[in-house]
Amino acid sequence: MARAPSPCIVVHYHEISLKGGNRPLFLRRLGRNLVTATAGCGVRGVRRLPGRLILDLDPEADLAELRERIGTVFGIAYFAPALCIPPEWPVVQAAVLQLLEGRTFESFRITARRTFKVFPMPSDEINRELGALVLRHFPTRVNLSEPVLNVRVDLLPREAFVFVDRVTGPGGLPVGVSGRVAALLSGGIDSPVAARRLQKRGCEVEFVHFHSVPYLADTSQRKVRALVERLARHQFTARLWLVPFGEIQREVVLGVPAPLRVVVYRRLMARITEAIARKTGALALVTGESLGQVASQTLENIARMTEAVGMPVLRPLIGTDKEEIIREARAIGTFEISIEPDQDCCTLFVPKHPETRASAEAVADAEARLDVARLVQTGAESATTETFRFPPAEAAAASASGREPQDRHQQERRADHADLTEPVPEE
Ligand code: ATP
Ligand code: MG
Repeated sequence: MARAPSPCIVVHYHEISLKGGNRPLFLRRLGRNLVTATAGCGVRGVRRLPGRLILDLDPEADLAELRERIGTVFGIAYFAPALCIPPEWPVVQAAVLQLLEGRTFESFRITARRTFKVFPMPSDEINRELGALVLRHFPTRVNLSEPVLNVRVDLLPREAFVFVDRVTGPGGLPVGVSGRVAALLSGGIDSPVAARRLQKRGCEVEFVHFHSVPYLADTSQRKVRALVERLARHQFTARLWLVPFGEIQREVVLGVPAPLRVVVYRRLMARITEAIARKTGALALVTGESLGQVASQTLENIARMTEAVGMPVLRPLIGTDKEEIIREARAIGTFEISIEPDQDCCTLFVPKHPETRASAEAVADAEARLDVARLVQTGAESATTETFRFPPAEAAAASASGREPQDRHQQERRADHADLTEPVPEE
C-alpha cells in the first residue's frame, strides 16, 4: 500500500567515532541534542535506524531554520532533507520525480544503497531504471563522476529515503558525551576558540570570566556575554561565571613585585576556576594559551600556572599560530565580538616588563606574602552566574503553546536579534 511521502531529515554520523561501548551513549546524546536544537521548528520526533538518525517533520517545517540549527550540533557528519517512503518500487519512482519537481539540473546521477540488501532489485538495476525514468521527465543527462545533482535512494528493510542535498555537518562528538570542563574566557580572540574546540570534542563547558569592575569599565563582561550566547548554540544551556577580580589584584599589587604579578594573577585565576570546576563537576580547565604568543605564555610561566592546580589544564591552541586562530574565530563567528575594544582585567596593574621565566621559588616567595587560600575562597564565593539558552526560551515556549508556525518563526527571529548582552533568565 502506497503511503504519501513524508518529509524528514536524515542525519549521518561518523561510524569511526563509535567504537566499543560509547555507541549507545553517543546516539542517545546526539538524539537528545538534535531534539533540543530544533525546538520550535516542526520536528515531530527523532528515531534511530541502522547507521543514521531520522528527524520526522511536520509538512510546514521551516527547512532553512532547521538547516541552520542542525548545523550547530556536534557529532554529525552530514544531513539531508529527505522524503520518507515505504520501500516499494512504484513509490520509490514517484518519490524521485516528486523530489526533482520544479528543478532544472544539467546533469545527475542516481546513487542507490540497500541496507541489509532486503530490497528485491540490485542497486545497479535501481540506478539504471531510475536514471531512465528521470531522463524521460527532465531535459538533463547522466554524469556519474561530477553530477550537478546526486539523487540518493537509501533502501532499508521497512522504509526508504530519497534526497539530493547533502549538507556537511560540523563533525566532532555530541556535546555531553565527554563530560564537563571549565574554560577561562577572557573576551579576547583565543579563549572562545579554545572553548569551542572542547565543545566539539563532546564537552559541556562552564565559562569563567574575571573582571575588574569597578576599577575598569564593564565592557569585557558584555563581550563575554555575547561570546557565551554564541557558544551556547552548541551546548544549549551554558553558564557564565563572572568573578570580581579587581580587589584581589589590588592585594597582589600590595604584596608582589611588579614583574611577577601576571604569573600570580594567572595562578589565582586558575585556582579560583578550579574551585568553580569542582562545584560544577568539571574535570579540567581550558585556556586559550598558545606557546610563546605573549610574555605570560612561555613554557616556564605555563608550568607555574599548571602547578597551581590539581586538575589538568587543557590548552587546545598551544601549537596554533595566531593567524590560524583568527581564521577559526572568523569561521565560528566569535571574531567580530572578540575584537570589540574592551578593558581586560590583565591590563590593570600590569608592569611594563613582566617576568617571562618565573621560577617556582620566586613565585612561592611572592605568594608567601599573600593569603592565597582566602583570596581563592573570596573569588569563588563572590562569583555571580548567568545562564544562556539556545534556542532562546521565548522561541521554545512559543512552539510549546502551539502558536501558528508563521508567528512562531517571527518570534524566533526576534529572539535571535535580541540584544546580545541580555542573558536569558535562569529558570
Ligand atoms: P585571549 O585572546 O584568549 O584573551 P591572549 O592571547 O590575549 O588570549 P592572555 O591574555 O595572556 O592571552 O590570556 C591567556 C589565557 O588566559 C586566555 O586565553 C584565557 O583562557 C585566560 N584569561 C586571560 N584573561 C582572562 C580573564 N580576564 N578571564 C578569564 N580568563 C582569562
Ligand atoms: Mg587576552
